[in-house]
Amino acid sequence: MSKNDYYMIQGEDYGQMAIQVLQAAGVAADIADKSKRIGIKPNILGAKKASEGAVTHPELVDGVLTYLKKEGFHNLVVLEGAWIGDLTSRAVRVCGIYDICKKHQVPFVDLQKDAFRTVDAAGMPISVCEEVFRLDYLINIPVLKGHCQTTVTCALKNSKGLIPNSEKRRFHTLGLHKPIAHLNTVIRQDFILLDNICGDLDFEEGGNPVVMNRVLGFWDPVLCDSFAAESMGYRPKDIAYIRLAEQLGIGSTEVEHANQVVLGEGIPEKETMRHTKRVSKLAAYADAKDACSACYGSLIYALDRLDDAGLLRGHRAGSVCIGQGYRGKSGTIGIGRCTGCFEKNVDGCPPKAVDIVQFLREQWD
Ligand code: SF4
Repeated sequence: MSKNDYYMIQGEDYGQMAIQVLQAAGVAADIADKSKRIGIKPNILGAKKASEGAVTHPELVDGVLTYLKKEGFHNLVVLEGAWIGDLTSRAVRVCGIYDICKKHQVPFVDLQKDAFRTVDAAGMPISVCEEVFRLDYLINIPVLKGHCQTTVTCALKNSKGLIPNSEKRRFHTLGLHKPIAHLNTVIRQDFILLDNICGDLDFEEGGNPVVMNRVLGFWDPVLCDSFAAESMGYRPKDIAYIRLAEQLGIGSTEVEHANQVVLGEGIPEKETMRHTKRVSKLAAYADAKDACSACYGSLIYALDRLDDAGLLRGHRAGSVCIGQGYRGKSGTIGIGRCTGCFEKNVDGCPPKAVDIVQFLREQWD
């Protein structure tokens, strides 16, 4: 195992996919001591269902608890503090994670009710909930999704659920980026199981889910967030909190030098997502034939970046081809390896949104 490794699996059996990622990464061997207190930190932002694109899928928490118990770990706790606008006690029930905790007889700790202490986070005093200091190992389960202030939210920002509400308010007045980076100098993130199933296009509260049907595993939260940024069409160093976290020594932004381990079949199921109005508007630029979810999702994120830059205007609907149905076929502009016979295409299986953005900019500028 190297801090540079990351694991990726695609499909729809999310609980099983979580177990496969943990097994491939060797998380049990990394924890080693069976008596260790292990915290599992999902993203339970508010009273939402995971299908809306805002909160962690309960199937992933189920997979993690099943794996850990089977490996002989029993000192487990699921912990979270919802955002200021909601009660954790309500949110954890609505999203289904409370039932998963009950099923495994694992306690859920509501951090909105926890005491806290103020610590020095690389020169910045930050208040952190007491329960965090009782943990010997933390498995973070963030959702890869957009955010109205920080553009991307993932592993580093998911740590904000481990601080009291008063500190969350202060973080917002400080502009989020700097305190998020500093917080992660005192929060451990031993393993990150990334929920990239259907995170939101650009808003942390959900409403416009983009189906990718992927689960990933990372050892390095900065690498995880850098991957997330590229998956949404951004360069990691353009996101201030990711850049700052690297400068503080928390991890690396160099996704291109990381080692990707693909698990399972490699080729995912075909995209069948039902689009919201907003996503449908972007999807209208694509002519999809049997596209995989991850490929199609990357294109949606890329089109959203191009829309932000005002570059979609003047282009006709269906002008970008994507999907397995184009294998061996000719055409003009294609996305992904399946369109390799087109006049122009961006390679990758699936390609990253950041590469699609650059490719389409070159064609359309
Ligand atoms: S390039 Fe083809 S096979 Fe690969 S993810 Fe895209 S649609 Fe699927």
